[in-house]
Amino acid sequence: MNEMSNRITDCRIRPVMAPLEMPHKTASGTLEAAPLVLIDVIADDGIVGSTYIFAYTPAALEPLAALSKNIASSLVGETAEPGAVSALLDARFRLLGNQGLVAMAISGIDMALWDAAAKRKEKPLYELLGGKSDPVRVYDSLGQMGPDETARVVEASLERGFRAFKIKAGHPDPKTDVAVVRSIRDVAGKDVWVAADFNQAFGVDEAVRRMSMLDEEGLAWIEEPVQASDYQGHATVRSAIRTPVQTGENWWGMPDMRNAVAAKASDLAMPDVMKIGGVSGWREAASLANEVSLPVASHLFVEISAHLLNATPTAMILEWFDIAGTIITCTPEIADGFAIPSQTPGAGILWDESAIEKIIA
Ligand SMILES: [Mg+2]
Repeated sequence: MNEMSNRITDCRIRPVMAPLEMPHKTASGTLEAAPLVLIDVIADDGIVGSTYIFAYTPAALEPLAALSKNIASSLVGETAEPGAVSALLDARFRLLGNQGLVAMAISGIDMALWDAAAKRKEKPLYELLGGKSDPVRVYDSLGQMGPDETARVVEASLERGFRAFKIKAGHPDPKTDVAVVRSIRDVAGKDVWVAADFNQAFGVDEAVRRMSMLDEEGLAWIEEPVQASDYQGHATVRSAIRTPVQTGENWWGMPDMRNAVAAKASDLAMPDVMKIGGVSGWREAASLANEVSLPVASHLFVEISAHLLNATPTAMILEWFDIAGTIITCTPEIADGFAIPSQTPGAGILWDESAIEKIIA
């Protein structure tokens, strides 16, 4: 059967609170479980494309699931080819706009259709996208903790195979941020790769003051020092410090990325596959990053991102923040600082149905 003739016949959408293997501390509390919408799109050849999307807050979980269900159901009878579906949904949602929950649901469907397309070709997704099968450099994305707790967590992380780390910085006392970075170097070696995420915590002046205090620490990047949408603010911080500035996880599609690039907001780029427009959006982002020589890191979604980075010319490093590991059977392995993308056909999302059954009940 010609792949163009494959039609979508059904979908299954399941909202779950997936328990995290390791609770994640942030400035606003501890994340114990991730609100995820599991998406399966079924085609007339029996192939099921699977993915999950992240609602960020339980308050958005049911609405995101309902929206995903409505959009996916509206595609029954349409082609299963992701490019065509993307064009179709772009037209259907032009008036409402493609951001927020709408963008997340559309991206999820795109990710599921790409998974199916790779399964249909019996190839891992990276291969379908023209990528390599190489292990991908990875960093462990740590929660917000003081120096002693960070040192303990890093020791355990080194044992699991990680060799690079990112902290959630922005402690009330900026000296604590410096102490946390040094505590990692004490445990993992003075040349270890360390980055710091500020999660949009500061205004531009305060950001410059605080980032300057970290300029001697040899960080790989400083992430979102100011509000994500403030590209000019990012550019100002960037010109005031030596440490590379990283942003991109909050780009909603290519228009945001293009604006950030035009403002010279960032030394690096870290698009989020769900916010940038799924695999289709990521491919455009990777192409623009290549054009303007921006090294690319990923955000969340470890399984599919390992595939996408292998098909990204300026790939830099994979973020490891595993929000679905307890409900997936083939989480990428970590070895000596690298993650190994799944080698089975598709994007490496295989549901652990018995684990899901327990949390759905
Ligand atoms: Mg971040």
